[in-house]
Amino acid sequence: GCGSVLNVNGEVEMDASIMSGKDLSSGAVSAVRCIANPIKLARLVMEKTPHCFLTDRGAAEFAAAMGVREVPREQLVTERSRKRLEKEKHCKSAPKPEPQKHLGTVGAVALDSKGDVAYATSTGGIVNKMVGRVGDSPCIGSGGYADNDIGAISTTGHGESILKVNLARLTLFHVEQGKTLEEAAEVSLGYMKSKLKGLGGVILVNKAGDWAVKWTSESMPWAAAQAGKLHCGIDLNATSITDLDLL
Ligand code: ASP
Repeated sequence: GCGSVLNVNGEVEMDASIMSGKDLSSGAVSAVRCIANPIKLARLVMEKTPHCFLTDRGAAEFAAAMGVREVPREQLVTERSRKRLEKEKHCKSAPKPEPQKHLGTVGAVALDSKGDVAYATSTGGIVNKMVGRVGDSPCIGSGGYADNDIGAISTTGHGESILKVNLARLTLFHVEQGKTLEEAAEVSLGYMKSKLKGLGGVILVNKAGDWAVKWTSESMPWAAAQAGKLHCGIDLNATSITDLDLL
């Protein structure tokens, strides 16, 4: 929502998806513009329609029908995101842009007390993207996946690479084949890097409460809460653990 990265026209265009591992129910939206929390709209698609995915005008009409408040588009554009776009536009001289530096995705995975897992992924995409460009985040199997029998995963990174390898489902496939969450993440991210030079990151959780965080991009801000402890980090090999009671 507010502060999303901007497309080439300086507009916010967002994608989001959500899935429940209990029954594989899922909902997604893409190219939505005047909504503060696209992930809530994705959830409404999951819960209130017989469909999985609504886009653009249809998604906007559905949001209005559900009573989701429309936000004036300028309200979602921040000074920071405007500067980021300007910088990107002026960086054309760079021989090869590093896409992982210009992304803005928020992802979550969860395991609840009933043993159900779920994921949610929401993004503005890639700064300076073409109007109408849809990335991996709203695509079930790429931007995330959840199945109680395997686990839940949310992904981030270079959308075009993530789509091509179906990063979320690919990682869970490796889990199904007997790898640990950590090993599975390493193998699938490694595959994406060697095949496409695509960089990204994943967070995963399974029914047993095991979780893993892995990325091949330069850094990835992440946090995990389990058994009263908050684990978090941004850079490789720099994890801090705090007692949740102390916060
Ligand atoms: N994966 C997103 C996209 O390509 C960007 C990101 O993860 O930040 O749309």
